[in-house]
Amino acid sequence: MMMSSVEFFRNLPPKQCNKCGNTLDEMHESYIQQCDECEKDVTVLKM
Ligand SMILES: [Zn+2]
Repeated sequence: MMMSSVEFFRNLPPKQCNKCGNTLDEMHESYIQQCDECEKDVTVLKM
């Protein structure tokens, strides 16, 4: 079955946090791999 690249990406599952598995908001920047909660944890650890 032929499928255009547009359809392929449309069928991809929603992005998930690589730490807790929460579904990431589509509004997030594309490079973000973690949800807000985990982002906070990382920020705290860096300080
Ligand atoms: Zn998370």
